[in-house]
Amino acid sequence: MTDEVTGAAAASSRDDAARRSNPDAEVVEICRDLIRIDTSNFGDDSGPGERKAAEYVAEKVSEAGLDPTLYEPEPGRTTLVARWEGTDPSAAPLLVHGHLDVVPAIAADWSVDPFAGEIKDGCVWGRGAVDMKDFDAMVLSVLRARARAGRPPRRPIVLVFTADEEAGGRKGAHWLVERHPEVLEGCREAIGEVGGFSLTVRDDLRLYLIQTAEKGLAWMRLRAKGTAGHGSMRNGDNPVTELAEAVARIGRYDWPLRITPTAEAFFAEVSDALGIDIDPAGGDVEATLARLGTFSRMIGATLRNTANPTMLDAGYKANVIPGEATAVIDGRFVPGAQEEFLATIDKLIGDKITREMLNVDSAPETEFAGALVEAMRASLQAEDPAGRAVPYLMSGGTDGKAWDRLGIQCFGFAPLKLPPDLDFVGMFHGIDERVPTESLEFGARVLDRFLDLA
Ligand SMILES: [Zn+2]
Repeated sequence: MTDEVTGAAAASSRDDAARRSNPDAEVVEICRDLIRIDTSNFGDDSGPGERKAAEYVAEKVSEAGLDPTLYEPEPGRTTLVARWEGTDPSAAPLLVHGHLDVVPAIAADWSVDPFAGEIKDGCVWGRGAVDMKDFDAMVLSVLRARARAGRPPRRPIVLVFTADEEAGGRKGAHWLVERHPEVLEGCREAIGEVGGFSLTVRDDLRLYLIQTAEKGLAWMRLRAKGTAGHGSMRNGDNPVTELAEAVARIGRYDWPLRITPTAEAFFAEVSDALGIDIDPAGGDVEATLARLGTFSRMIGATLRNTANPTMLDAGYKANVIPGEATAVIDGRFVPGAQEEFLATIDKLIGDKITREMLNVDSAPETEFAGALVEAMRASLQAEDPAGRAVPYLMSGGTDGKAWDRLGIQCFGFAPLKLPPDLDFVGMFHGIDERVPTESLEFGARVLDRFLDLA
């Protein structure tokens, strides 16, 4: 009995010691806590907002000795900023950012409660597990461990936990850039989503995809105006017909390959890693991509511009030809291709249809080189000798578009060593979103090493 008690006490003091010094000690727990705070972003203000999550983060960073500031463009839509001083105050600060909001989840579709932060089969399950409460938790776990151990980072770090990323960041990152650019003063580089995750090629080779570019976004409404009239009459100026043809032309358009410098660098690294010669401009590129498994879905979408019709609206009665019909198109362009993209759309819609931009956002691109990239490579390899960092262009958008407005170079670097069979790309905004606990702990350790080198 006595021995058991002593044993338990020794174990618990070992736990305490581990908790004090290990960067990965709290990552799983914090990730679960954050998932349990529902921050669903419906794209309007009908969701719960980010304030509760921001207050949770504020408590965690305050305990580590930081002095956080909360910003709210609107009540409940909270972004947190905190400065973490480094040992070299003359070094340029590094922006480390994560968003607090998540896309909604319909509980009935899930096999677990999406907001319970359950652990099952070695994974933390729940909305935000990979997008991106995982990285938020890594940052907090590493910060707290280093604070306890008296190990500040080399460079000053500006920590930003944003609201509203999932709706474009107008009430989060973009707002901060417009209204409080002073908090980011001196920042030239940033790390955040979406990148740093592994893609297993062979037992002895894992590619870690570092995001160095992202596609731009062009959401637009097309409008056809015509002559309203009785549905029983002949009508050569029917806006529904006109619009439907334009929408079909866009939807069926075969966009040509547009290989950006990032895509070229990606294929060069992959060619080298696999020992094969991939010509990204060649016709066999899709076949090569297939070898990368589910990830090929994402890469495939980054080799060209895309435009998908997503909404249609016209008419109000079966026998009335309306005077107008509208459609919404989700357009995405690769870095450097915005003008070409819009010119192509205009050609496809013709002159009878007008185009109104609903949302346009940039396609930033950063070179995969320099000291920060070396720090990523080295910290990944120290934790995974079979790992190899590779740049890639991401098909979606992130808060990086906002930081880019201040000239900050953005890298998607939220390290995760993943099991080979996990459909990681499918986890984003997907049903049964989850992340292995070991992957979270790995990420925290890499991030900790990275802060020594960055
Ligand atoms: Zn995200």
